Amino acid sequence: MTLDLVDTHAHLDGDAYMADLDAVLERAAQAGVGRIVSAGQDAATSAATLALAAGHSAIAPAVGVHPHEAKSAGDLAWLELAAQNPNVVALGEMGLDYHYDFSERTIQRDVFARQLDLAARLDLPAIIHCREAEDDLASLLRAHFDRSRRAVIHCWTGDWTSAKAFIDEFDVYLGIGGAATFKNALQLHDTVAHAPLDRLVLETDCPYMTPTPYRGKRNEPAYLALTCKRVAELRGSSEPEIAVATTANAMRLFPRLQI
Ligand SMILES: [Zn+2]
Repeated sequence: MTLDLVDTHAHLDGDAYMADLDAVLERAAQAGVGRIVSAGQDAATSAATLALAAGHSAIAPAVGVHPHEAKSAGDLAWLELAAQNPNVVALGEMGLDYHYDFSERTIQRDVFARQLDLAARLDLPAIIHCREAEDDLASLLRAHFDRSRRAVIHCWTGDWTSAKAFIDEFDVYLGIGGAATFKNALQLHDTVAHAPLDRLVLETDCPYMTPTPYRGKRNEPAYLALTCKRVAELRGSSEPEIAVATTANAMRLFPRLQI
């Protein structure tokens, strides 16, 4: 039985897939991954993602400024313009990364807040990256996000207590990626086991975060099936059940995916 899966977070615009994107998309389709949300990280990669999506119906583009690139975000007029493209399903990826601190934290917070405001104004869901910045994420969401809106915290790796706090207060979705297949990802396993099924979406974050047994190699959307399998095991559920639920969740999270 072929699963029907949505990869809710990928980066297909870069050099990693330049040579063989068509083959990558073909393998994705064969693995049941029919739609792939590919996220820009700055002006150039957002434009490249829109161009890719124009030529490949499986690719659903998101446009935004990754916290690493916040320092060069500018006035975001370019982002507002890019977001007018009717194919765009979300704004992002945006957020906070206090692990690498590639942009100053004050600038990260400012650029994230402005993107949350823009997402609200344009009625688009937000794709959020958060690393070692949960407290500031919560306070910025309190000031610039309403729980009636839609957002996903992608690449969730934290424990169930903090996941539950974000779900309870903001009604966000959690993006579950290849880390779920890692033996030592115990906090994440606990989150996957306990979270309400209607809050989980699957993602690859490819070309990064390659699941077991392909760790060390390039990741690609077809490997989403491995994460689906592991989520099913962790929840004592079946792969079809997880596929059906996470795909329905992805459609609610990104309403434009249905068009
Ligand atoms: Zn990403």
